[in-house]
Amino acid sequence: MAVHVYGYPCDVKAIETIARKHNLKVIYDAAHAFGCKLDGKSILNWGDLSTLSFHATKLFHTVEGGAIVAQDPEMADKINRFKSFGHLGEEYYMLGVNGKNSEFHAAMGLCVLPDVGDIIQKRKLICNTYDAEFGALDIVFSNIPKNYEYTYAYYPVIFHDEQQLLRVKENLLKNDIHPRRYFYPSLNTLHFLDTRQSCPISEDISSRVLCLPLYDRLDLHDVVK
Ligand SMILES: *Cc1c(COP(=O)(O)O)cnc(C)c1O
Repeated sequence: MAVHVYGYPCDVKAIETIARKHNLKVIYDAAHAFGCKLDGKSILNWGDLSTLSFHATKLFHTVEGGAIVAQDPEMADKINRFKSFGHLGEEYYMLGVNGKNSEFHAAMGLCVLPDVGDIIQKRKLICNTYDAEFGALDIVFSNIPKNYEYTYAYYPVIFHDEQQLLRVKENLLKNDIHPRRYFYPSLNTLHFLDTRQSCPISEDISSRVLCLPLYDRLDLHDVVK
């Protein structure tokens, strides 16, 4: 399982090579990658399954809900039955769960869908404005690969260290600007999970990332201020 974190693509080719070598299935958490394209093709084509979240905080949403994209039609059928109590009409196939999306949520999605192109364009403008305003600041900003069409779901900034991040966050909050430490803390450090696994890269990077405000109605004047 791999995550297209912030919607940036995993190294899908390397992951496929490893999966083939060891005869593994690949599932991508593509919750951040709605609409993203690699080499002109949807990123959702990679792996055996990709999962999407349509929660209200995402770029495209149905209030709650999501989707699973499967490459194999048989697997898609199986998932369809599983999510709908394991049966279709009077045919009972397996134990299942209630993972259906409701008509009501689907209606919400249909309301948002026609605006998604506009929403992405506005977010792109905001991200480009952030880029231009920050100029050559000595911290790391989004670095979108050239062959990738990004849909501007997030604007993460990577600081040198956690102290620097905390100083910036405190000052933003003082000005009523609410950034988010997204993917913090590193999951292996949660005291209620019995992992005790050392993940030094995750611990390091998760302590240094802050996502700046990004939503389509964010006024460019506020971005520049
Ligand atoms: C939002 C999100 C999820 C969870 O999605 P739900 O629809 O809330 O279940 C999973 N992974 C990532 C990366 C997300 O951003």
